[in-house]
Amino acid sequence: MPSFAEARVDLDAISGNVSLLAERAAGALVMGVVKADGYGHGMLPAARAALAGGATWLGTAFISEALHLRAAGIDAPVLAWLVPPGEPLTEAIDAGIDIGVGSVWLVDEVLDAARQARRPARVQLKADTGLNRGGIGPVEWPDAVAALARAEAEGLVTVTGVFSHFACADDPGHPATSAQLEAFHRALDVVDKAGLRPEVRHIANSAAVLTRPDARFDLVRPGIAAYGLSPIPGLAVPGLRPAMTLSAILVGCKRALAGSGVSYGYRYVTERATNLALVPLGYGDGVPRAATNRGPVFVAGRRRTIAGTVCMDQFVVDIGEDTVSPGDRAILFGPGDHGEPTAQDWADALDTISYEIVTRIGQRVPRTYT
Ligand code: PLP
Repeated sequence: MPSFAEARVDLDAISGNVSLLAERAAGALVMGVVKADGYGHGMLPAARAALAGGATWLGTAFISEALHLRAAGIDAPVLAWLVPPGEPLTEAIDAGIDIGVGSVWLVDEVLDAARQARRPARVQLKADTGLNRGGIGPVEWPDAVAALARAEAEGLVTVTGVFSHFACADDPGHPATSAQLEAFHRALDVVDKAGLRPEVRHIANSAAVLTRPDARFDLVRPGIAAYGLSPIPGLAVPGLRPAMTLSAILVGCKRALAGSGVSYGYRYVTERATNLALVPLGYGDGVPRAATNRGPVFVAGRRRTIAGTVCMDQFVVDIGEDTVSPGDRAILFGPGDHGEPTAQDWADALDTISYEIVTRIGQRVPRTYT
């Protein structure tokens, strides 16, 4: 891979963020969420850093991601919560992965797989408490719980956990969060009455860890905050440190005359004679094309805005009378310590969330670790 661009990941920052979140969790266990390649930071290093920071569980969306952790020798408890048809259930059971059961059809599939694997499946039941995405809803919940209680009594499964997920925790004060907590308590009552005694009950994502002490239960599941980004736009969280710095070595710069159209479609036209610097990163690397004339970049000691269309492999920055040499570095985002934009600044400029900015950085950009 070419090394003119890099996503440098500060693993101490991830460990430090996780220990800060563990403090906020005040006794609840911490599950480090490392799905989607550790939110773009690299799943294995991120997982190890989260464990070093005090996480005792790991969370992924897919079983295939959880198996990747196991293949790398990571033996911490792992929950995979999104199980489409065809995910390798028996492999998950053999690898001791907790299977998140958030669909009614999956109950029978897991029981079949456990029979095939000849060992109990570790199962965590996912309640839909109001997100109306994954999870078993209140109508089907009692039957699903009863089926798993029977299966546990038969030794086919161990129900290790019960969990749910918030819809609006990033909007503190939104009434849905309290309504979901009440629904979660009702779901837990059903579990309790069925005689199940799960090890861990959990619902809190990053936003809830930081704002809802009443959502801690036995375990919290922070993702974005572990990578140092605030889950709530506008909420500064002292002590959180963004872990990823995305930068590229400039190809060089050249003089352009006043009135020059820049990049495809001439969406930027120079107002006066100026210097144009070329950055070798584009939408093929995950820099959104929507950053055309909007994305912030730190070049030649100052923050600027991308000039013209973001191409597949490159974009241009108008640096006025400043100059750069081939080999100088442009920083797209980082912790913000030296005036460079943050992933949140990118999210604000592009009307999206920081999650999308860090997660989409492509495999052509090597991750380096400090
Ligand atoms: N739990 C579940 C089920 C999730 O899907 C996610 C991420 O989307 C998380 C926890 C972590 O959320 P966040 O990154 O907002 O902390």
